[in-house]
Amino acid sequence: MRPEQLYFRVLPRVVPADEVTEVVIEPIYGYYQIKEDEMYEVGIVPMEHRSSQPEYYIPSTFDLDTILKVVGVQTIKPIKGKFRFSYLFADEQEHIIYLRETSGDKKLVGAFTVYSLKADLFSRTPLKGDMHMHSHRSDGRDHPAFVAASCRKIGLDFMALTDHGQYQPSIEAQEAFNLDDIDLKIYRGEEIHAPDNPVHIVNFGGSFSVNDLFRGDNFQQYQKEVVEIQAKQGKLPHGVNPYQYASCVWVFNKIRQAGGMGIFCHPYWLIPSGFSPAGRLTDYLFETQPYDAYEIIGGYYKDQVDSNTLQVARYHEERAKGRTIPVVGVSDAHGCETGNLFGWYYTIVFSPSAELEDIITSIKDGYSVAVEAMAGESPRAYGTFRMVKFGLFAIRELFYQHDLLCKEEGLLMLDYLAGGKDATHKLAKQKGRALNAVQTLFGRKAE
Ligand SMILES: [Zn+2]
Ligand SMILES: [Zn+2]
Repeated sequence: MRPEQLYFRVLPRVVPADEVTEVVIEPIYGYYQIKEDEMYEVGIVPMEHRSSQPEYYIPSTFDLDTILKVVGVQTIKPIKGKFRFSYLFADEQEHIIYLRETSGDKKLVGAFTVYSLKADLFSRTPLKGDMHMHSHRSDGRDHPAFVAASCRKIGLDFMALTDHGQYQPSIEAQEAFNLDDIDLKIYRGEEIHAPDNPVHIVNFGGSFSVNDLFRGDNFQQYQKEVVEIQAKQGKLPHGVNPYQYASCVWVFNKIRQAGGMGIFCHPYWLIPSGFSPAGRLTDYLFETQPYDAYEIIGGYYKDQVDSNTLQVARYHEERAKGRTIPVVGVSDAHGCETGNLFGWYYTIVFSPSAELEDIITSIKDGYSVAVEAMAGESPRAYGTFRMVKFGLFAIRELFYQHDLLCKEEGLLMLDYLAGGKDATHKLAKQKGRALNAVQTLFGRKAE
């Protein structure tokens, strides 16, 4: 972490594009001592050189004197231990704020960064979530409630447990906590395995189980409805099994009826018989898009990286054909303390709130990126250029405090599950803090 990220409080970090905003920089932890009688200068470089100034050319040079001469500087005097200045942050981009002394050898205080956003994105908050995970109710290792608490511990704002063929574990995860006492949004979910259909589909947030509609007396009704869809869909391209495709359409429709979001899971999952689902069906699903969101990054182990690479390549290929594809990244974790998958992949949703409807609508409207963040490696983000660009800034600059507070909360949630006496009281005191840490960086007042 750069010293500027840790030893200074810079507020706000995200500003509205094309408006004048006052930025305040305050050294903390004694890293830099402000000289009260010194004059300082501030020069701001828009990283993509999109400026509100008349045309200018910023030379590609490491020479700060030259750069600051081109962009211009404001001379300021620190007041009560803080630097304050106002600036018109043009367009949607990251800006580097150079702050330095004016006397002697013009010591650089630091290079700080701020991101300016257009109104639609500025009004949203980045929230982290995982929408595809398993517990020991299917083939995972941990209890549903343990999975939920562990999600908070690693900095997630929302999650859904999606056990194979089972919806009930996601309710168990909810019921283990009094949901009013905690900030983690625990949503319902399941991984759907429709009979005679190889496509795995996640029901995120739906208010009823789709898997239950394959059981007992329901099964005949399911079959009847799939055959009806099949009759209406006409002739499909060669190699696409009409029943399997109709079953997918049926499942995605049911999820939407339940108010959930249907995720097309891991199409390049390699099993002994080849990719599952196989190519032609996958092609047709991309072509017709019956799904709500695409698992662009799925929960693959390190030796399966080809599968995610193919999923990303496929996304770009389909986008080049003019399609709009909502994306998610998910861990598909089968245990929280296995050292694998859990926390490696997640989604950042830029949403007005963490409420289910807002999360789903935001993803469908394209306000999300899939993140790959393996331990010891630099995080990567996948999605549209605009979301990736801001997503990378968010990962690097906006979640530090948030994640620390989430960790405290996650540990308290685990303590609560283990019967810790004071945990409820302590959780109540934590409430709202993690979200406020992010809101503050957008210059929004604490609630
Ligand atoms: Zn699966
Ligand atoms: Zn799964």
